[in-house]
Amino acid sequence: MSRWAIVVAAGSGSRFGGPKQFALLDGVSVLSRSVRTAAACVDGLVVVAAPGSVDRTRAEVATVAPDAIVVAGGATRAGSVRNGLAAVPPDAAVVLVHDAARPFAPASLYADVIAAVEAGATAVVPGIAVVDTIRSLDGGAVDRDRLVAVQTPQGFRADALRAAHATAPEATDDAAVVEAAGGSVVVVPGTSTNLKITTPTDLVIARALARAEEAT
Ligand code: C5P
Repeated sequence: MSRWAIVVAAGSGSRFGGPKQFALLDGVSVLSRSVRTAAACVDGLVVVAAPGSVDRTRAEVATVAPDAIVVAGGATRAGSVRNGLAAVPPDAAVVLVHDAARPFAPASLYADVIAAVEAGATAVVPGIAVVDTIRSLDGGAVDRDRLVAVQTPQGFRADALRAAHATAPEATDDAAVVEAAGGSVVVVPGTSTNLKITTPTDLVIARALARAEEAT
């Protein structure tokens, strides 16, 4: 059963203030860290690059995953996933989608997500408990025990992911796209250190995590 991953790295980094995928964590870029782990966990890999950074992305990816296919992304995350999906071979059975902005997703999390898809789930997301009290702007606290914060890598039966993206829907993750198309989503335990780098403050935390990882 062939397993592929799409690492999406085509964001503009507007909340970060620049292309965060090339920021260094202990000498290794955010992109390279994400790609290195993904490549070790699947049979084939597609990396989706910002249209203006395809050559730079290709050069970085070549150092950690020489066989990876690099394609240009779209204007939205969902568009970038679709461009990546178009490069995944038709015989792939399982497709994982991972945000390059999460460089600490461990190989064990990939393994858990893949195992849940291969056990029969259509869509699998890692989720972690919400620690803050959540309040709706419309008023009222929301019961956090019924909520999880969703991470990537997310895993899918390839046919379900392709079918769900066929009508070019927009969503901030692929599980929502599959769910909107009628599929159900299984949640597996996420990893607390699987930080998504969004703001410059996140980079400070990520650098500390990378140093701590290096020291262990
Ligand atoms: O914008 P957001 O933080 O949700 O982005 C999550 C991931 O999606 C990032 O890794 C980013 O590079 C990627 N992305 C993309 N193409 C876009 C927008 C975001 O590949 N047009």
